[in-house]
Amino acid sequence: MEVPNIFVREYLLDNYKSDMEIFFPVKDDGNLAINFVIKEQKKPKLKSHILPQSINQDDNGFNLQYTFENFIEGPSNQFVKSAALGVAQRPGKSFNPLFIHGGVGLGKTHLLHGIGHFIKNHSKKQSLKCVTTEGFINDLVFNLKNKSVDRMKRFYRNLDVLLVDDIQFLQDRLNFEEEFCNTFESLINQNKQIVIVSDKPPAQLKLSQRLIARMEWGLVAHIEIPDLETRVAILKHKAQYKNFSISDEVAFFIAERIFSNVRQLEGAINRIAAYSRLINGEITKDLAENLLHEMLNFSPQKKVSLESILKNVGTVFEVKVSDIKGESRLKNIAQARQVAMFLAKELIQESLQKLALSFGGKTHSTLLHAWKKISNELENNLILSRQIEMIKKNLDS
Ligand code: ADP
Ligand code: MG
Repeated sequence: MEVPNIFVREYLLDNYKSDMEIFFPVKDDGNLAINFVIKEQKKPKLKSHILPQSINQDDNGFNLQYTFENFIEGPSNQFVKSAALGVAQRPGKSFNPLFIHGGVGLGKTHLLHGIGHFIKNHSKKQSLKCVTTEGFINDLVFNLKNKSVDRMKRFYRNLDVLLVDDIQFLQDRLNFEEEFCNTFESLINQNKQIVIVSDKPPAQLKLSQRLIARMEWGLVAHIEIPDLETRVAILKHKAQYKNFSISDEVAFFIAERIFSNVRQLEGAINRIAAYSRLINGEITKDLAENLLHEMLNFSPQKKVSLESILKNVGTVFEVKVSDIKGESRLKNIAQARQVAMFLAKELIQESLQKLALSFGGKTHSTLLHAWKKISNELENNLILSRQIEMIKKNLDS
């Protein structure tokens, strides 16, 4: 049976095998007695897959803008950034593998390419490959078709550094997962550096336990949504890159209304830059509002004050506000404190440092830790999630 590509074959076998068994002959071993032929493509590609080259990319496929220098740091990404830098400075010798995960548009690919640029510039002899998971799969399909899988294996297994973007696309691709896992093990066993980027932590990926365990071997680092100050710094940096500048007022105005995705901040700057060139004049807040109207988020930024969070958490958990701000480690007080910190980070667009200070001078890492702890607990603890819902409702009214 002729199929256009290997994916169709897999799809048919996964979903219609039993239907096909009704009208196709079946072999003694239970498999269908038919051969799948992959349709010849009219124009065979010269290169296997390789990322589409554009003016923004160098010959390794690295985006020229995605360097460490162009990456703005803040509490949300400092840890990931220094892990990435550590790996770039000593490939194979610090964290291996480095696994970076986080939401869309938060700079994961930027950091991955940043590692690539750095290694290319500082240790020229290292052989390095940056590939998207789709790229890896396409490579494998191409080489299967051309009976050159051994060559591909040799290539990948002789690398010094392998950078893999968007590993979530390996989910539900069983045949490819095995080859990826073998490549992975071969490299790690030779102390070659692997960096993997994903939109979820390893344990939440639908992949084999074997591969998940391998990916958790090294360092797993989470990249978070940047806080207000960092967003403002990113806006200003991007504007400067485009050779124009925006006032603090406009930068804050935008950063307060676009908060969960850096790519959107970039989109906003591009639009404003184009307009500013057109009118050859300064961008005011009103102008920015008009230009960006449909991109800006006006409602979720409800003005919730820290005082009201403290008061409502105190009421629901039956503890005093002064205790929440204090140092007591009594279980119910500590939990109320962590919930208040969690809600502060979720609901108040303010830097973690400043928020933490308002809790009687705690550090931002204490606040981050509390946020993570409560986020994790919320998944399984029904009582806690009801309590938090109740507090949120009170804050709304
Ligand atoms: P992801 O891979 O996480 O979806 P990207 O790495 O593609 O996100 O980032 C989206 C855009 O936002 C890119 O243009 C990137 O340069 C920019 N960006 C993200 N985080 C930062 C940051 N901290 N500093 C500067 N630019 C950033
Ligand atoms: Mg990406």
